[in-house]
Amino acid sequence: MAATTNADPENSELRTPSNFLREIIAEDVSSRKFGDAQIQTRFPPEPNGYLHIGHAKAIFLDFGLADEFGGRTNLRFDDTNPEKEEQEYVDSIQRDVRWLGYDWERLCYASDYFPQLYEWALQLIKNGKAYVDDLSADEIRRYRGTLTEPGKDSPYRNRSVEENLDLFVRMKKGEFPDGSRVLRARIDMVSPNLNLRDPVMYRILHATHHRTGDEWCIYPMYDYAHGQSDSIERVTHSMCTLEFADHQPLYRWYIEQLGIFPSQQIEFDRLNLTYTLLSKRKLLQLVQEGRVRGWDDPRMPTLSGIRRRGFTPEAIRAFVASAGVSRTNGIVDIEMLEHFQRDDLNRRASRAMAVLRPLKLVIDNYPEGQQEFVEVANNPEDPSAGTRQVPFSRELYIEQDDFREVPPPKYYRLSPGREVRLRNAYFVTAQSVAKDAAGNVIEVHCTYDAASRGGNSPDGRKVKSTMHWVSAGHAILAEIRLYDKLFNKISPGDAPEGGSFLDNLNPNSLEVITDAKLEPSLGSAKLEDRYQFERVGYFSLDPDSTAEKLIFNRTLALKDSWAKIEKKAEAYGNS
Ligand code: ATP
Ligand code: MG
Repeated sequence: MAATTNADPENSELRTPSNFLREIIAEDVSSRKFGDAQIQTRFPPEPNGYLHIGHAKAIFLDFGLADEFGGRTNLRFDDTNPEKEEQEYVDSIQRDVRWLGYDWERLCYASDYFPQLYEWALQLIKNGKAYVDDLSADEIRRYRGTLTEPGKDSPYRNRSVEENLDLFVRMKKGEFPDGSRVLRARIDMVSPNLNLRDPVMYRILHATHHRTGDEWCIYPMYDYAHGQSDSIERVTHSMCTLEFADHQPLYRWYIEQLGIFPSQQIEFDRLNLTYTLLSKRKLLQLVQEGRVRGWDDPRMPTLSGIRRRGFTPEAIRAFVASAGVSRTNGIVDIEMLEHFQRDDLNRRASRAMAVLRPLKLVIDNYPEGQQEFVEVANNPEDPSAGTRQVPFSRELYIEQDDFREVPPPKYYRLSPGREVRLRNAYFVTAQSVAKDAAGNVIEVHCTYDAASRGGNSPDGRKVKSTMHWVSAGHAILAEIRLYDKLFNKISPGDAPEGGSFLDNLNPNSLEVITDAKLEPSLGSAKLEDRYQFERVGYFSLDPDSTAEKLIFNRTLALKDSWAKIEKKAEAYGNS
């Protein structure tokens, strides 16, 4: 489905194929709409949660487009909701933006502008463009009307400038309780755009802010703070998602009334992904209720979650570039993201052998006590990655799935009398099995052909399968965490009737294997290393690992055609 041409991580100048945002900026540059001002953008997260993969799209556009035009990008925290915001989120957002590969011109906070925003509010009051309203939140809602019904003026709408100034100053001084009054813009109570029906500019909130502490007890609303913050930073192109399109007239109204730098808002489509929830509020709920291990649980669509899972910034950038921008919202297949990640890992991951569900394989005709090293390419896709020496001996581990005492149809791996290749090592033929009291196979005995060293056929005879293995005496024990989709519904935000979105959680999204056997070279794995465990999938070290206990996360499975055949066979009662 996805075009792979953009997936090349060597090509750092990834470009969205068709991009109306770029066209708008190019047009503004050539018409000198902003005179000598440089192109300036901002990425404006609210620090009320961790960034998710949807934010990667906004970051890519905000930083990428400014860069294309020789402009600059600020990271601005939109911190106007003290009750929901925290320093932890401020820190994680900076970490995640950097990890994605971007660096900001200036680090800004809307809260730095509280004094200026307050001055501008006084100016609007003096110009008769704002008033203090004593209606309750409920009453304001009722007075606002609906899409089909005009709004009604508040009885407080025509207060004198003096009275408004006095009340607003006292609001700021803390003389009134929360919710008792608001400051509203005085625009048009019958506008067809509900956002223009005298929107609230300030509310009273006696809350401690993570940066300004108790200095303020009135806080600006998003619409009043955002555009003015853009203007202060001389943002030329304020890109945001489509749900703000209806707010654009209000964005412009404030800037025009104040006569300040004419920042302009442009909207693009939100990134939505199948089987994925991209809402900080709901992700927070998963964290708070312990449904996941934290914001950086590898099943989470947060940047810190997918980073921990082993995803790479190169693949994420290639993916959002290829997903493109549009003026209508759509939904992108999660497989497309996975495709870009596999493509990237296939190129860069070191190959290694790891047996997740071990079964002992004993080579009866291999001398006891003997060991040798076979030479293995670190990455067949990249000869410059070199080779390594992997120990081989009489007792090995293979995957339980790679042996069947009674092979089903189309099963070409090891079974009694069948010859297969041990990758890079030798041809072996299964001879007999040892079982436990319950009748489970616990050991397979085989013979090897010493003339097939390197896994090469000595006489042209062919084998139908090649299997990975780990020498038992050299193996490292490790924990492996296998992840599946966190939700089993294509749009997990939709609650089933009478239920909640939590009912869409996949109960089998995490499987922990505690006794996997790894080849010894994996003992020196570092957090940033990426591996393909041959025939198994892509893996990377989890930060929970210690010197005594290695833990690997499965980033993605390889596409496994056998699993499909097996499923079909099961469906036919053929298991
Ligand atoms: P959420 O609903 O997840 O809380 P938000 O829009 O409230 O998201 P903000 O922190 O306000 O999150 O977003 C910062 C920027 O990222 C905004 O410009 C917003 O438009 C953009 N953004 C948020 N979610 C997405 C998404 N899914 N796709 C593209 N851009 C997004
Ligand atoms: Mg928001």
